[in-house]
Amino acid sequence: MDIPRIFTITESAHRIHNPITPDKLATLGAALRLTPGASLLDLGSGSGEMLCTWARDHGITGTGVDMSQLFTEQAKRRAQELGVANQVKFIHGDAAGYVSEQGVDVAACVGATWIAGGVAGTITLLAQSLRPGGIILIGEPFWRQLPPMQEVAKGCLAHAISDFLTLPELVASFGQLGYDLVEMVLADQGGWDRYEAAKWLTMRRWLDANPGDDFAPEVRAQLHSEPTRYTTYTREYLGWGVFALMLR
Ligand code: SAH
Repeated sequence: MDIPRIFTITESAHRIHNPITPDKLATLGAALRLTPGASLLDLGSGSGEMLCTWARDHGITGTGVDMSQLFTEQAKRRAQELGVANQVKFIHGDAAGYVSEQGVDVAACVGATWIAGGVAGTITLLAQSLRPGGIILIGEPFWRQLPPMQEVAKGCLAHAISDFLTLPELVASFGQLGYDLVEMVLADQGGWDRYEAAKWLTMRRWLDANPGDDFAPEVRAQLHSEPTRYTTYTREYLGWGVFALMLR
């Protein structure tokens, strides 16, 4: 079981697989007023940066579940490196349908809401692991500017404009699902650059090291087209944020 190989090539050097930067991740951890011993569940935990740094900075404990074997190994190594391996656990597996045995203080899915069919389905899934009064964290894109035509949405690698909402629409949708939005930290274009532009050097280095690989033509094509696609579309049109929700 694993994610498509292209991601483990392009994002192999990422600690955070999203447009949120280390300082914004720290801002979010502080904004949530986490107390030592608080428990977190993170579905689609990637390379574990959120759990590991919050365990170090706030003394939280937690579990991450991720389908990528490489990212899960990196998360375990990061936990060792930060001295928090006794506080956090990383499971390689499918997070779709994953429910923790005990109710957690914070249940998160940051940039992987497709695991339960979108934002609403992911909130329903996370709610099953949450203790009463706990916080749900959702990381999700939104339209910074509404695309004037479907072609622009496709340029942002969305299937259609309807894949995402504007920020006010996304915020209103949480209310419609019966949740209070109690905090949020939004990414900016600089954060998008860290996420997207970091892939380019990784791809270039990978190509230099693996010229004969079956995947080389695909990686070469992406390195060729991605900088122009990203600066034309995603950087201009897509926002991204992490939203903290509590049941009304
Ligand atoms: N939350 C992390 C990773 C976000 S990227 C961060 O912010 O850094 C999306 C992650 O979802 C990837 O790590 C990918 O491996 C994982 N993923 C994709 N499908 C999944 C599934 N069905 N179950 C668990 N993880 C999944």
